[in-house]
Amino acid sequence: MKVLKSLIHVIIVILLTLITQVGGLIWIAVFGYFKYHKSVWNEWKRLGSFLVIYTFIAFAIVPLTASLGNRKMLPVFHKTIKPQNLGYVLLCRNYVRADLHKVMLDIADDQAINDPVLKLVYLDAGFPFIDGFPLLPHLSHNDGRKVDVAFVYSDSNGNSNQNLNPSLIGYGIYEEPKENEVHQTQICEDAGYWQYGYANFIGFNTNKSLSLNESKTKKLVEQIQSNDRVQKVFIEPHLINRLRIKNIQSKLRFHGCHAVRHDDHIHFQVKP
Ligand SMILES: [Zn+2]
Repeated sequence: MKVLKSLIHVIIVILLTLITQVGGLIWIAVFGYFKYHKSVWNEWKRLGSFLVIYTFIAFAIVPLTASLGNRKMLPVFHKTIKPQNLGYVLLCRNYVRADLHKVMLDIADDQAINDPVLKLVYLDAGFPFIDGFPLLPHLSHNDGRKVDVAFVYSDSNGNSNQNLNPSLIGYGIYEEPKENEVHQTQICEDAGYWQYGYANFIGFNTNKSLSLNESKTKKLVEQIQSNDRVQKVFIEPHLINRLRIKNIQSKLRFHGCHAVRHDDHIHFQVKP
């Protein structure tokens, strides 16, 4: 029984570390405290205190200490930029290097000048500490230079705002290629890269009436490329053609079959 209990703790610590980076350490600290002090609190009270302490640290302590890892938290409540949902903040997945932080604000400002009702919506960025620590499942999001941002969507009346996304988490609802378009997913899966379209399994379509706002998404991808600090932008080949997105200074690249589909979000990175 004791061995099983220890094993469960080990598994939880590994999972929390992979998903949030700091969660595993907080788990060890909280449950270590209870064990050392021979607390009479039951498991539920212990779990509750972990959740309270974790939330406090994630929102108040990590943002203040991330500069030690040369990272800055992307804004949460801001007039031009927002996370897809608070889960990204709670899981500490919205940290970037200071230069990318500024680039995000500049791009969001550019977007707001054209479209005051739109905010720049970010998805996964990076963890707060340690260069080389990957933000799974994105192997390359490991140095604070990379971030994913959401497409712009319209409701059935053709109106767009930053709260519209067919997927709860912002990933996994694809703008599928049409019959006459390049079907990169097929090409990659035929070549044996089974993981290419895996996000399909995690995207739940919560609003089927939404459609991609092609002109505003095109504009956003071009604005991202126009920023001097931006090095590469990834988006699926059939969307580059369909939306006639300009390839500014050859920054639009194909990410490769070892990555995942990019017809549900935009990935970009700044120069080293
Ligand atoms: Zn990415």
